Amino acid sequence: MSLAHGVGLILRTMRILLTNDDGILAPGLAALYDAACEFGEVVVAAPETPQSAMGHAITISTPMTARRVHVHDKFHGWSIDGRPADCVKLAMRELLDERPDLVLSGVNAGSNTGVNVIYSGTVAGAVEGAFFGLPAIAFSQRLSKEMDFGKSSAVVRALLKVLLDDLAALDGLCLNVNIPALDAGLPRGVHVCPQALLPMQEKYRYDRRADGERLYWLDGYEPDATECPETDHCAMLDGFVSVTPLRFDMTHHEQLGALGARAWPASFGPQPRESRADA
Ligand code: MN
Repeated sequence: MSLAHGVGLILRTMRILLTNDDGILAPGLAALYDAACEFGEVVVAAPETPQSAMGHAITISTPMTARRVHVHDKFHGWSIDGRPADCVKLAMRELLDERPDLVLSGVNAGSNTGVNVIYSGTVAGAVEGAFFGLPAIAFSQRLSKEMDFGKSSAVVRALLKVLLDDLAALDGLCLNVNIPALDAGLPRGVHVCPQALLPMQEKYRYDRRADGERLYWLDGYEPDATECPETDHCAMLDGFVSVTPLRFDMTHHEQLGALGARAWPASFGPQPRESRADA
């Protein structure tokens, strides 16, 4: 191998796929773009419209449109009328010329700690990247009076610098990163911790239209830090960045044995002839 070839291999530009759930026009995506650009060549594939709380939904019964758009005079990207998981899937299978090295999702306007991980489209975008065996990171920032995405961009950059130091170790892994409110200053540090399991204190606001139709709005309060110590939510409330490695294997492995040992029916009745072992 020639020296030039060797150097070329070592210095190959990293390719980074970006998505989000707040839509391709969201300022958080632009902030993520600014941070990611420092580390490689960035391709954006994001939903055309806001898709918060869509979880890991995908589009199966209608076609999706994918349009090349130019956003904020900053980047060109694919604007897709689908969910965040659709965007990553479509980009990976159809839109990208080459496989990326990393998938980033966010920066979401609003935290995705605790059980919100399940509802989050931001997290789903990253998890979809991990499905493809890639390192994937979801970034969310706590809602506050002055959402300063310039500051979040600097925080994301500092975090990426550490994570990209050993990117191969993150293959197929999804990291969920929550940035605290930055109004009062920059984060106090980083906590690597599990997600909180306490649900939101949910309630519905209720109204009735003139025609008698009932209207409900989901509302609620998040748990406070004392209720979920040493979790992502607590870390974020205390002013730290939380970093949580996520599993998308939802199998409860410890339950397989006990459940498998139950007295399951040996047969549900006569089998169709062709499927019988002795046929
Ligand atoms: Mn969102």
